[in-house]
Amino acid sequence: MSQIAGVLEKLEGTSVYETLVQMEAAYERIACEQKQWYDAAKFYCPEGCGSCCEGFEPDLMEGEFLYMAAWLIENQNDIALQIAQNKFPFDNGKTCPLFNPASPYHCSIYNGRPFICRLFGASSFRSRNGDKTWRPCKFYPDDILAAHKPPLAKRQYSESETLQVLGAVPPLMSDFTESIAASASGETELIRDILPPTIRRLLWLINMNDNGNDNPNGSPSGAPPMAA
Ligand code: SF4
Repeated sequence: MSQIAGVLEKLEGTSVYETLVQMEAAYERIACEQKQWYDAAKFYCPEGCGSCCEGFEPDLMEGEFLYMAAWLIENQNDIALQIAQNKFPFDNGKTCPLFNPASPYHCSIYNGRPFICRLFGASSFRSRNGDKTWRPCKFYPDDILAAHKPPLAKRQYSESETLQVLGAVPPLMSDFTESIAASASGETELIRDILPPTIRRLLWLINMNDNGNDNPNGSPSGAPPMAA
Protein backbone atom coordinates (compact mmCIF):
# COMPACT_ATOMS: atom_id res chain seq x y z
CA MET A 1 0.00 0.00 0.00
CA SER A 2 1.26 3.49 -0.85
CA GLN A 3 2.88 5.46 1.97
CA ILE A 4 1.88 8.71 0.25
CA ALA A 5 -1.56 7.85 -1.20
CA GLY A 6 -3.26 11.04 0.04
CA VAL A 7 -0.53 13.34 -1.26
CA LEU A 8 -0.42 11.54 -4.61
CA GLU A 9 -4.15 12.00 -5.01
CA LYS A 10 -3.76 15.72 -4.41
CA LEU A 11 -0.78 16.04 -6.76
CA GLU A 12 -2.23 14.21 -9.73
CA GLY A 13 -1.57 16.16 -12.93
CA THR A 14 1.37 18.13 -11.51
CA SER A 15 5.01 17.96 -12.62
CA VAL A 16 6.08 15.93 -9.57
CA TYR A 17 3.46 13.18 -9.70
CA GLU A 18 5.28 10.71 -11.97
CA THR A 19 8.57 11.13 -10.09
CA LEU A 20 6.85 10.31 -6.79
CA VAL A 21 5.20 7.21 -8.29
CA GLN A 22 8.55 6.04 -9.72
CA MET A 23 10.34 6.61 -6.41
CA GLU A 24 7.77 4.63 -4.48
CA ALA A 25 8.06 1.77 -6.99
CA ALA A 26 11.87 1.77 -6.64
CA TYR A 27 11.65 1.79 -2.83
CA GLU A 28 9.14 -1.09 -2.91
CA ARG A 29 11.51 -3.04 -5.18
CA ILE A 30 14.39 -2.52 -2.74
CA ALA A 31 12.21 -3.74 0.16
CA CYS A 32 11.14 -6.79 -1.83
CA GLU A 33 14.71 -7.73 -2.89
CA GLN A 34 16.05 -7.09 0.59
CA LYS A 35 13.36 -9.31 2.11
CA GLN A 36 14.55 -12.15 -0.10
CA TRP A 37 18.11 -11.48 1.04
CA TYR A 38 17.20 -11.29 4.73
CA ASP A 39 15.07 -14.44 4.49
CA ALA A 40 17.95 -16.38 2.93
CA ALA A 41 20.99 -14.86 4.66
CA LYS A 42 19.52 -14.10 8.12
CA PHE A 43 22.13 -11.34 8.33
CA TYR A 44 20.73 -8.20 9.96
CA CYS A 45 22.06 -4.89 11.31
CA PRO A 46 22.63 -5.10 15.08
CA GLU A 47 19.47 -3.93 16.87
CA GLY A 48 19.35 -0.17 17.57
CA CYS A 49 22.75 0.46 15.91
CA GLY A 50 22.26 3.72 13.95
CA SER A 51 26.04 4.27 13.61
CA CYS A 52 25.70 4.90 9.87
CA CYS A 53 23.54 8.00 10.59
CA GLU A 54 25.96 9.57 13.07
CA GLY A 55 28.18 12.32 11.69
CA PHE A 56 26.49 11.86 8.31
CA GLU A 57 23.94 13.74 6.27
CA PRO A 58 22.78 12.19 2.98
CA ASP A 59 23.08 14.06 -0.31
CA LEU A 60 19.73 13.70 -2.06
CA MET A 61 18.74 13.39 -5.70
CA GLU A 62 15.58 15.15 -6.82
CA GLY A 63 13.34 12.09 -6.56
CA GLU A 64 14.59 11.40 -3.05
CA PHE A 65 13.90 14.87 -1.66
CA LEU A 66 10.51 15.03 -3.38
CA TYR A 67 9.54 11.67 -1.87
CA MET A 68 10.84 12.63 1.58
CA ALA A 69 8.81 15.85 1.52
CA ALA A 70 5.67 14.03 0.32
CA TRP A 71 6.12 11.34 2.98
CA LEU A 72 6.44 13.94 5.74
CA ILE A 73 3.38 15.88 4.56
CA GLU A 74 1.34 12.67 4.50
CA ASN A 75 2.62 10.96 7.65
CA GLN A 76 3.99 13.68 9.95
CA ASN A 77 2.20 16.83 8.90
CA ASP A 78 3.13 18.83 12.07
CA ILE A 79 6.81 18.05 11.58
CA ALA A 80 6.55 18.84 7.86
CA LEU A 81 5.19 22.30 8.70
CA GLN A 82 8.03 22.89 11.19
CA ILE A 83 10.66 21.82 8.65
CA ALA A 84 9.03 24.05 6.03
CA GLN A 85 9.98 26.90 8.41
CA ASN A 86 13.58 25.57 8.60
CA LYS A 87 13.04 24.03 12.06
CA PHE A 88 14.31 20.44 12.20
CA PRO A 89 13.12 18.89 15.48
CA PHE A 90 16.23 16.73 16.06
CA ASP A 91 18.95 18.93 14.56
CA ASN A 92 22.07 19.08 16.76
CA GLY A 93 24.27 20.49 13.98
CA LYS A 94 26.46 17.37 13.99
CA THR A 95 24.50 14.57 12.39
CA CYS A 96 21.57 13.98 10.04
CA PRO A 97 18.83 16.43 11.11
CA LEU A 98 16.28 13.59 10.96
CA PHE A 99 18.18 11.34 13.40
CA ASN A 100 16.33 10.91 16.69
CA PRO A 101 18.83 9.67 19.30
CA ALA A 102 16.03 8.94 21.79
CA SER A 103 14.25 6.46 19.52
CA PRO A 104 15.52 2.85 19.33
CA TYR A 105 14.90 3.07 15.56
CA HIS A 106 16.75 6.43 15.29
CA CYS A 107 15.50 7.50 11.85
CA SER A 108 12.46 9.76 12.37
CA ILE A 109 11.35 9.31 8.73
CA TYR A 110 12.13 5.62 8.32
CA ASN A 111 9.66 4.88 5.51
CA GLY A 112 10.55 8.13 3.73
CA ARG A 113 14.33 7.74 3.96
CA PRO A 114 16.53 8.02 0.84
CA PHE A 115 18.32 5.33 -1.18
CA ILE A 116 21.62 5.29 0.68
CA CYS A 117 19.87 4.78 4.01
CA ARG A 118 17.80 1.90 2.63
CA LEU A 119 20.78 0.23 0.95
CA PHE A 120 23.58 0.82 3.47
CA GLY A 121 24.43 -2.48 5.14
CA ALA A 122 22.12 -4.55 2.93
CA SER A 123 23.36 -4.15 -0.64
CA SER A 124 26.14 -5.28 -2.93
CA PHE A 125 28.26 -3.20 -5.29
CA ARG A 126 30.47 -3.61 -8.36
CA SER A 127 34.17 -3.98 -7.62
CA ARG A 128 36.80 -2.28 -9.81
CA ASN A 129 36.73 -5.18 -12.26
CA GLY A 130 32.93 -4.98 -12.47
CA ASP A 131 32.15 -8.11 -10.44
CA LYS A 132 29.26 -8.14 -7.99
CA THR A 133 30.76 -7.87 -4.52
CA TRP A 134 29.56 -7.69 -0.91
CA ARG A 135 31.30 -6.36 2.17
CA PRO A 136 29.96 -6.23 5.74
CA CYS A 137 29.12 -2.70 6.92
CA LYS A 138 32.17 -0.93 8.38
CA PHE A 139 30.30 -0.36 11.65
CA TYR A 140 29.41 -4.02 12.13
CA PRO A 141 30.82 -5.28 15.46
CA ASP A 142 33.82 -7.58 14.86
CA ASP A 143 32.76 -10.00 17.60
CA ILE A 144 29.36 -10.62 16.00
CA LEU A 145 31.01 -11.17 12.62
CA ALA A 146 33.50 -13.60 14.18
CA ALA A 147 30.64 -15.53 15.84
CA HIS A 148 28.79 -15.94 12.54
CA LYS A 149 28.75 -19.46 11.13
CA PRO A 150 30.95 -19.49 9.11
CA PRO A 151 32.93 -16.58 10.66
CA LEU A 152 32.97 -13.33 8.66
CA ALA A 153 35.51 -10.52 8.41
CA LYS A 154 35.47 -6.91 7.20
CA ARG A 155 36.69 -7.65 3.71
CA GLN A 156 35.24 -7.92 0.22
CA TYR A 157 33.45 -11.15 -0.68
CA SER A 158 32.98 -12.10 -4.32
CA GLU A 159 29.52 -13.07 -5.52
CA SER A 160 30.30 -16.79 -5.24
CA GLU A 161 31.88 -16.39 -1.78
CA THR A 162 28.86 -14.40 -0.58
CA LEU A 163 26.55 -17.13 -1.83
CA GLN A 164 28.67 -19.69 -0.04
CA VAL A 165 28.79 -17.93 3.36
CA LEU A 166 25.34 -16.30 3.41
CA GLY A 167 23.26 -18.24 0.88
CA ALA A 168 22.27 -15.09 -1.05
CA VAL A 169 23.69 -11.84 -2.40
CA PRO A 170 21.94 -8.58 -1.43
CA PRO A 171 20.54 -6.21 -4.12
CA LEU A 172 23.02 -4.29 -6.23
CA MET A 173 23.11 -0.65 -5.10
CA SER A 174 23.84 0.76 -8.56
CA ASP A 175 20.76 -0.94 -10.05
CA PHE A 176 18.62 1.50 -8.10
CA THR A 177 20.66 4.67 -7.89
CA GLU A 178 21.65 4.72 -11.58
CA SER A 179 18.10 4.30 -12.90
CA ILE A 180 16.82 7.20 -10.80
CA ALA A 181 19.90 9.38 -11.39
CA ALA A 182 19.41 8.96 -15.16
CA SER A 183 16.00 10.63 -15.00
CA ALA A 184 17.08 13.43 -12.61
CA SER A 185 19.11 16.61 -13.04
CA GLY A 186 22.24 14.96 -11.61
CA GLU A 187 22.63 17.64 -8.91
CA THR A 188 22.44 16.51 -5.30
CA GLU A 189 21.45 18.55 -2.25
CA LEU A 190 21.81 18.21 1.51
CA ILE A 191 18.64 17.47 3.50
CA ARG A 192 18.80 20.63 5.58
CA ASP A 193 19.12 22.82 2.47
CA ILE A 194 16.56 21.21 0.18
CA LEU A 195 13.82 19.75 2.40
CA PRO A 196 12.30 23.05 3.67
CA PRO A 197 11.79 24.60 0.19
CA THR A 198 10.60 21.25 -1.23
CA ILE A 199 7.92 20.88 1.45
CA ARG A 200 6.83 24.47 0.77
CA ARG A 201 6.72 23.70 -2.97
CA LEU A 202 4.59 20.55 -2.54
CA LEU A 203 2.20 22.31 -0.15
CA TRP A 204 1.82 25.09 -2.69
CA LEU A 205 1.13 22.59 -5.51
CA ILE A 206 -1.42 20.78 -3.32
CA ASN A 207 -3.08 24.07 -2.52
CA MET A 208 -3.22 25.08 -6.18
CA ASN A 209 -4.66 21.71 -7.21
CA ASP A 210 -7.23 21.83 -4.38
CA ASN A 211 -8.36 25.22 -5.62
CA GLY A 212 -8.81 23.91 -9.16
CA ASN A 213 -6.01 26.02 -10.61
CA ASP A 214 -5.39 24.95 -14.20
CA ASN A 215 -1.65 25.67 -14.06
CA PRO A 216 -0.39 23.81 -10.99
CA ASN A 217 3.19 23.62 -12.27
CA GLY A 218 4.13 27.24 -11.81
CA SER A 219 6.39 28.51 -9.03
CA PRO A 220 5.37 29.27 -5.46
CA SER A 221 5.14 33.01 -4.88
CA GLY A 222 6.61 32.80 -1.36
CA ALA A 223 3.20 32.49 0.24
CA PRO A 224 3.31 30.90 3.70
CA PRO A 225 3.01 27.09 3.77
CA MET A 226 -0.41 25.58 4.38
CA ALA A 227 -1.33 22.21 5.78
CA ALA A 228 -2.14 19.55 3.17
S1 SF4 B 1 17.50 9.98 6.77
FE1 SF4 B 1 17.20 8.59 8.51
S2 SF4 B 1 18.43 6.74 8.04
FE2 SF4 B 1 19.15 8.39 6.68
S3 SF4 B 1 20.92 9.35 7.75
FE3 SF4 B 1 19.04 10.54 8.31
S4 SF4 B 1 18.31 9.60 10.23
FE4 SF4 B 1 19.76 8.13 9.26
